[in-house]
Amino acid sequence: MTSTLNCSRCGEEKPRLSPPPIPGALGNEIVAAVCRDCWSEWEKMEVMVINELRLNFMDPEAQKTLLLQMREFLALPDVVQTSPSSHDTKD
Ligand SMILES: [Zn+2]
Repeated sequence: MTSTLNCSRCGEEKPRLSPPPIPGALGNEIVAAVCRDCWSEWEKMEVMVINELRLNFMDPEAQKTLLLQMREFLALPDVVQTSPSSHDTKD
C-alpha cells in the first residue's frame, strides 16, 4: 500500500488523503480517487458552492446537489450525467 495515488482529478502522483474525509463508502471512494491537494481545493470550493447556491442542509435536495457538485469537481468516476447547471436567479 503506497502513500500516494494517481489522482483522477489532477492526474498526478500525489499523497493520499488519510483518514477519509467522509465516513462510509463515499469517503473510501474519495480516498481511492483523489489526492489530498485536490480534496483541500474542494473544501474551499464547497464553501463557495454552499454560499452561491444557498444550500440548506435541512433540505435533502441540497445535500444531493452538493454531492453532485463534489463528484463533478473531483472528477469521480460513475458520475451520473446531469443536466447543465442552471444559473437561474429567482428572487
Ligand atoms: Zn489531485
